[in-house]
Formats: sequence, structure tokens, C-alpha cells
Amino acid sequence: MDNREQVAAAARRLATEGLLVGTAGNVSLRDGDRIALTATGVVLRDCTEEQVTVVSTAGDVLEGDLQPTSELDLHLDVYAATGAAAVVHTHAPFSTAVACVLDELPVIHYQHLLLGGPVRVAPYATFGTAQLAANVREALADRQAALMANHGSVAIGGSLEKAVENALLLEWLATLHHRASELGAPKTLTDEEQADVIHQALQRNYGTTSRVNVDSNNPSSDNPTPHNPGSNNQEKS
Ligand SMILES: [Zn+2]
Repeated sequence: MDNREQVAAAARRLATEGLLVGTAGNVSLRDGDRIALTATGVVLRDCTEEQVTVVSTAGDVLEGDLQPTSELDLHLDVYAATGAAAVVHTHAPFSTAVACVLDELPVIHYQHLLLGGPVRVAPYATFGTAQLAANVREALADRQAALMANHGSVAIGGSLEKAVENALLLEWLATLHHRASELGAPKTLTDEEQADVIHQALQRNYGTTSRVNVDSNNPSSDNPTPHNPGSNNQEKS
């Protein structure tokens, strides 16, 4: 699939999942010196290949008829600072709610550690500004996601799929935090508990699909059942 179509498909998926609403939010994918990103003013649920613009790492338009997203600087800065392959920015409801209240989303569930640790909330700055881009870049240090105060969320990944998954995971964690907080003060995982999770995840190759061992007495079995057919890490317990 062409990079512009991949970005359009990711935008449509995130809109279907409720993370991108109307024209709010943007998605980009880097391929060497070329960055494909959603154009400004596009209804993301209906995003087409033609509504994705390709720019250089300096932000010059290389391909496409539409102006790139107003958060172009944010995307360019994040690529320059992190080496990510893809960036997703949303105004997802629970992520944005958390970003209006907290300075950091604490680790209350072990899956949170896929994002690299507590998710920082980047200080508020006007949308589309270099200041906002700089704040987000700083909040993303050693993380796969950040929140943006009174604004939304940013997720990155080594692939477009990963960035989308991380945005979905962050929204799930923000929802969890909200629901847990209604019951009382959520308990956070201690540093030791977090270290044990990482140790366990490395041992078990967490987050990847693995096949069951085929019975050695039955070598004719050439169609082993996948132990974990879902690749969505949110479904794995
Ligand atoms: Zn925004």
C-alpha cells in the first residue's frame, strides 16, 4: 500500500475507534526524507489518499494539492528528536480529559509499560506553535506517547501500526484511570513491580504472537493452532 493510502487508512481507523473526531487530529508516516501526513481541514473518518500531503523533513510540500496539518511543526520536531517512523496526534476524549487535570498519567496497569513509563503531560501552548512542538518533544523523552495539557495526545511508533496501537493504548489507560478514580484513589505500581513486569515481558516475548508446540508424536500435524491469534496487545491478558 502506498504511504499516502496507509496514512489515510490509519486516520479512518482512528476515527472509527473514536480517537479522531471530525477534523481534529492528524497522522503521519516517515519514509526516509519524505513524510506523508494528513492535510488540514480533512474530515478524518473519510480521509482519502488525495487528502494526505507529502512534505520534506524541512516541511516543504513534495506531493499533494492540500496544505499539510496545522501541527506540521509538531510532527517534524518529533521525527527529528525521536527517530520514530510514525506520529499520531488526537483529541481523544479520555486522553484529553486527563490532560486537563493531571501533570502525569501514572502507571496503574502493567500494559502501561509498553509506553515506556508514566506518560508526561506537556505544558500548554497554543496549537500549531513551535513552543507546543518543543513541549511535546520534551515530554516524549524515552516514551512512546505524551499528553498535551488542555489539548490531546501524541503517540509514536517504529511503524504506523505501532503508533496507532500506542494511541489506542493511551486512550484505554486514560479511560481506566478515569473509571478507577471514580471508585477511589487508584493504586500505582511500585518501581519494583514495574521492573518485574519488564523482566517477565522479556522472558515471555510479550506482545508477540506465538504458536503452540506441535506434539512431537504427531508430526503429521502441519496446522498448529496459534496460541494467541490476536496481535492487539490490549486483548492479551
Ligand atoms: Zn490538536
